[in-house]
Amino acid sequence: MRDDPAGTIAAKADELTVLWPALAAALERDNGAPGPPSGPAVCSAGVVNADVLHAVMTLQREIPAARDKACDLIREPRQPRPVLTCLTALPRLAGRLHALGHTGAENRIARDMARWTVLAKSALGLRVPDRPIGRRCPLCADAPILVTVGAEGFLRPAGKGVAVEWQHSGCIRCPGCEASWTVSQWPHLGRLLESSPSSPTPRRSPC
Ligand SMILES: [Zn+2]
Repeated sequence: MRDDPAGTIAAKADELTVLWPALAAALERDNGAPGPPSGPAVCSAGVVNADVLHAVMTLQREIPAARDKACDLIREPRQPRPVLTCLTALPRLAGRLHALGHTGAENRIARDMARWTVLAKSALGLRVPDRPIGRRCPLCADAPILVTVGAEGFLRPAGKGVAVEWQHSGCIRCPGCEASWTVSQWPHLGRLLESSPSSPTPRRSPC
């Protein structure tokens, strides 16, 4: 994400354009009509209505605000627009910000996109939480606890609806410096942990 904000923004915008209607459908269904679920069958694990509502309200507020801020920075006129329109405009606006040297603002959009995706997926039951592994990062000064990255569901078009495709990252990640190690790199991580004085096994994870 740090290395390629444009790639992150484009990929997350694509995902969010699918997640946003799924959130709306989940909210509608939770609120009520009797009969079989009309929305995508992504919520069989049990949606907490409050989580969906929180995600909808956050995205509804923050996505247009991010678009407005980007328009202001590049001095582009703006009109109120629906969430999806603002969302699809963000990759282009981020590209303009980059071209004009506002890389801080571009990175902020990338971070927000990633955060919105996590929020939407968590609300829809599409994200298994990361799990702490009880060892500290060998690369960080403040050495946070390393985590295994939880599985993530992706919505794919299937027939008239959508289907969930689960992906297991098989990654260990540091929430501090964002360093990550895939399964094939675990032996290397093991050697790093053995030789690192800053990674004693803590008695209890603070998470
Ligand atoms: Zn780290």
